[in-house]
Amino acid sequence: MISFLIVVAIFAIFIWNKFIRKRCSRCKALNFAVYNITELERFKGYVKVQEKNSRGVNTRAVSATLTINKYDYRCKDCGHQWSEKKKEGLGANL
Ligand SMILES: [Zn+2]
Repeated sequence: MISFLIVVAIFAIFIWNKFIRKRCSRCKALNFAVYNITELERFKGYVKVQEKNSRGVNTRAVSATLTINKYDYRCKDCGHQWSEKKKEGLGANL
């Protein structure tokens, strides 16, 4: 029996970053890019993981390294710049 782990929190962050699109706050264009990422903080935290095994699915918390990164964006259409802080997981320490 192959058991595997799904890191729910990290997956959710990935989905958020990848698929939930933001727009330029000035011209509403989707045509913008990240031009700089700055790591502001790094700390130990916990993420919830779902563990699938022969008995079913367990949810448990595991320690992980989390970071707060500042993303700097620039709109390619109007040149508007803004930044956003994101909390991200580097991966669970399983
Ligand atoms: Zn714009």
